Amino acid sequence: METFDVVVIGGGVVGTSIACHLAMLGARRVALLERGTLGGGTTAQSSCILRTHYSVREDAELAHAALRIFARFAGYLDDPEAVSGYNRCGLMIVAPEGERAEALKATLAVERTLGIDARDLSTAEARERHPLVDFGDIAHVGFEPDAGYADAHLVLSSFARGARRRGVAIREGVNVTGLLRDSGGRVTGVRTSGGDFGAGTVVCAQNIWSREVAVWTGIALPLTISRHAVFTLEGPTAYTKDLPVLKDLASPAKLYLRSYATRQLLVGDGNEGEALAAPDTEQADVPLDYVVELGEQVAHRLPAFADAGLATSWTGVYDVTPDWNPVLGPLPGIDGISVAYGFSGHGFKLSPIVGRLIAQQVLAMPTDFPLAPYALERFATGRLLAGRYGTGAVS
Ligand SMILES: Cc1cc2nc3c(=O)[nH]c(=O)nc-3n(C[C@H](O)[C@H](O)[C@H](O)COP(=O)(O)OP(=O)(O)OC[C@H]3O[C@@H](n4cnc5c(N)ncnc54)[C@H](O)[C@@H]3O)c2cc1C
Repeated sequence: METFDVVVIGGGVVGTSIACHLAMLGARRVALLERGTLGGGTTAQSSCILRTHYSVREDAELAHAALRIFARFAGYLDDPEAVSGYNRCGLMIVAPEGERAEALKATLAVERTLGIDARDLSTAEARERHPLVDFGDIAHVGFEPDAGYADAHLVLSSFARGARRRGVAIREGVNVTGLLRDSGGRVTGVRTSGGDFGAGTVVCAQNIWSREVAVWTGIALPLTISRHAVFTLEGPTAYTKDLPVLKDLASPAKLYLRSYATRQLLVGDGNEGEALAAPDTEQADVPLDYVVELGEQVAHRLPAFADAGLATSWTGVYDVTPDWNPVLGPLPGIDGISVAYGFSGHGFKLSPIVGRLIAQQVLAMPTDFPLAPYALERFATGRLLAGRYGTGAVS
């Protein structure tokens, strides 16, 4: 039986980041096991927005740390060829009068105390930064100049290369089917379609497939699975890549909008999505009714896109926890296993820092930020990570 110090399950952006960071922090024998191919999970469907605007303070801190890694990606990974595709176009958040404007102002203020460049803009300033936006029904505008978006394939392949270069064994086509445990219950390895592997620690980064971990361990892992549609519009006006990502808290769908392929507009929504009974990454239809409904909201905010046509669409699936925040770290009552799941639509931007934190925890090093707020136990104690926007994708 092959034995490793750490076996990571899952070759998405989170698993590859964890494997890469384990090796960067000195772990010698690390394996990453992926049942399909690297990036074949939900990472490929990500909208890849990098923002630090979170009303949950801990999330803002992690997102800020991750953004700093994206900003010096090649140097951080010590790989001149590593690229993330980070486009620092900024994020503009617009809110209508009332609770959402108050939540926006308060969140920007807290972000500033964390050292994040988070600004309140006058309408005139906002118009200058984003001439396509209709601010008629907007009471408050926030702006983060360092936010933007990146590229899922580039980031994942940079982590994978960083892991391989440092000696991590990456095995694709290996399906993990169970855990090996010793007589005391400690996890000592994994059962797979390619035989058993011994492991000092097993790290599960299985995203929407994390219910498997619940079956293997007998520990309930709160997780709902929901499908979200994303589409792009193209019209006479280009949504160029220098225009900020836009979060529209005034729209019924809590739209997010960003440049795509230089002139198209990528449209996503901040709603709950379509609940799925089981993980399913097959592409689903994006109903035209949905495109029309969101398209009207887009046209309200960006009148120049009123006549834009549908260019492309796809669906992707979120791994959602009850407070729309991830579970990070060890599982209670079982030695030798850690998890990173439940990213609820935030996992791409957090992947660099989550990889680092989980690697630090597994290697018994001090973690850059406490993992305790993200512990599974919070669902039993009621210490949920809920912020000013309530639970949901804004967080
Ligand atoms: C439509 C959409 C838009 C999004 N937009 C954003 C955004 O703008 N910003 C942001 O930060 N985040 C966003 N996200 C979220 C982010 O993309 C995800 O949180 C992140 O990509 C998940 O990465 P992962 O590594 O956890 O999962 P995955 O990429 O799904 O990887 C998990 C892997 O584990 C493997 N696996 C599972 N079980 C086993 C097993 N038993 N044995 C072997 N392998 C196994 C799977 O095959 C899979 O490849 C979005 C997500 C979607 C769907």
